Amino acid sequence: MFASVLSASILGMEVCPIQVEADVSDGLPSFTMVGYPSAQVKEAQDRVRTALRNNGISLPPKRVTVNFVPADIKKEGAGFDIPVAAAVLSAAGILHPSLLEGVMLAGEISLNGEIYPVPGILARVIKARELKCRYCMVPYGNLQEARLVKDMPVIGVKDLKELIRYLKNPEDFHKENPDRPSPKETENAWKTRVDFLDIHGQEGAKRACEIAVSGFHNILFIGPPGAGKTMLAKRLPTIMPQLTFEESLELTRIYSIAGLLSADSPLICQRPYRSPHHTSSAQAMAGGGRIPGPGEVTLAHRGVLFLDEMPEFSRRSLEILRQPMEDKVIQLSRASGTFTFPAGFMLAAAMNPCPCGFFPDMNRCRCTPGEVSHYLGKISNPLLDRIDLCTEVSPVSFQQMNGAPEGEPSDTIRERVERTRQIQLERYQKENICFNGELSGRQIQKYCGVTEEGNRLLEQAFRKMELSGRAYHRILKVARTIADMEQEDKIHVSHISQALSYRAFDKKYWV
Ligand SMILES: [Zn+2]
Repeated sequence: MFASVLSASILGMEVCPIQVEADVSDGLPSFTMVGYPSAQVKEAQDRVRTALRNNGISLPPKRVTVNFVPADIKKEGAGFDIPVAAAVLSAAGILHPSLLEGVMLAGEISLNGEIYPVPGILARVIKARELKCRYCMVPYGNLQEARLVKDMPVIGVKDLKELIRYLKNPEDFHKENPDRPSPKETENAWKTRVDFLDIHGQEGAKRACEIAVSGFHNILFIGPPGAGKTMLAKRLPTIMPQLTFEESLELTRIYSIAGLLSADSPLICQRPYRSPHHTSSAQAMAGGGRIPGPGEVTLAHRGVLFLDEMPEFSRRSLEILRQPMEDKVIQLSRASGTFTFPAGFMLAAAMNPCPCGFFPDMNRCRCTPGEVSHYLGKISNPLLDRIDLCTEVSPVSFQQMNGAPEGEPSDTIRERVERTRQIQLERYQKENICFNGELSGRQIQKYCGVTEEGNRLLEQAFRKMELSGRAYHRILKVARTIADMEQEDKIHVSHISQALSYRAFDKKYWV
């Protein structure tokens, strides 16, 4: 007998529907799998057969053939166990073929018949909705995640027995599991964690953080060890605008494919903060594997990618950031095709100004000028060119620590950021950008009107600081954000001079 059931394979961020066919016919008892399964998928035959036997179901001593359609896509992952089991059961006459019509299945099976969660469920269920499936059957551990998709019934199964029972009577599942409330759509999960309130002093650096977040500008913190660079960077997500539900879903899909979701509260409600170690390989940054999965640049999408000790990263790991910083996506080419992942992150980086950390304080710095320039030279000019703001962070003195009033809470700062974001959203309605940080050269001309006095200052600075064209654009973008923070339509001279102050560093350090 022949049977067929729908499943899906994850290719990068895309989902490809896969039909799993099974045939049980007379002949020497055997179990074969064809249709380009990977070694891991092939193991399903042993898992499925053993799990069936351990649950008291013995397959007839016949020839069992399983085929995956289309055959030109390599099938990866353990998610094919349940569809294979269901197709075989149906071909063996245990389940009526009509029960499998319009059902999408995915899940891994253990030898005793338990069903384990698999990555990428959210994307599969969305695909099932597109394909107008009747319902989806997923591992119980993925149920909350699958429920995030509206208008698509899902059934969660814990073991093989439930799989058979619920396939026969899907109604039973809904009777036994009255709908739990779906995960909250918005919640401030970071509330209990870090806050700008904890940072005393550092007013200049905090102001730079607020500007950076308001316009989604890349930011570099430079200063001696222990000055609080990491502390500042860690708090950046706490002042970023709240995610919309669509953005949350988009992030959840990425983390689902990466297999990083929690079973109970799968919806990602806070902006990501990724801080890969400086030993991270270029592959870990970009996304690795034969069929690549999300790398750090993708996991930081819509949030912060923080590089601590930036010069310690390998050249390749740093240079790989250039393309996604420009395009907001990363493209990975493999023999099996080109994969595109979202990578709209805000880069925050921290570094010491020299190997010992105390340059330009010549009383304490023990480095030779050669060592300093070699160290700074590890950051290439094109990369430096993509960083909009640089702020010096100096250690807080005892008086500042002791007498300083508490810092401003993150919530208050975020309210201001949301207001500035709103201005940008309205202004860029017709462009496909959301933030000043994303302005292109042509858009800068259009949206960054400067007063006459401001223009004079710009001209002076351009000559005196010998700015590059790119640096000039960056100054205008940052000035645009500062003007927006003050709800000014035109960019005034004060906005320009502030923006210039965040630029002065490359003259100070990178001579
Ligand atoms: Zn030094």
